[in-house]
Amino acid sequence: MQNTKVCPKCGSKDIVVVPGTIGWPGSGNYIQLRPSFVFKAVKVTRYLCCDCGFIEEWVDDLEDRVKIKNKYGGG
Ligand SMILES: [Zn+2]
Repeated sequence: MQNTKVCPKCGSKDIVVVPGTIGWPGSGNYIQLRPSFVFKAVKVTRYLCCDCGFIEEWVDDLEDRVKIKNKYGGG
């Protein structure tokens, strides 16, 4: 969906990209890396199919994915 711009559920090309945001705890779309330190969080981009409502989430930045792996990867 991120690369093809086609919904894998219904085949629609009506895809909207919703950029990740970081807000106070409870707002925005992100993965937290440190408790109580929301600005160390990683943004998560969402891809929404406007036809069927399917939503996909991606961490676009490789550096951010490494941070998450270091925190949650268990090794
Ligand atoms: Zn769809």
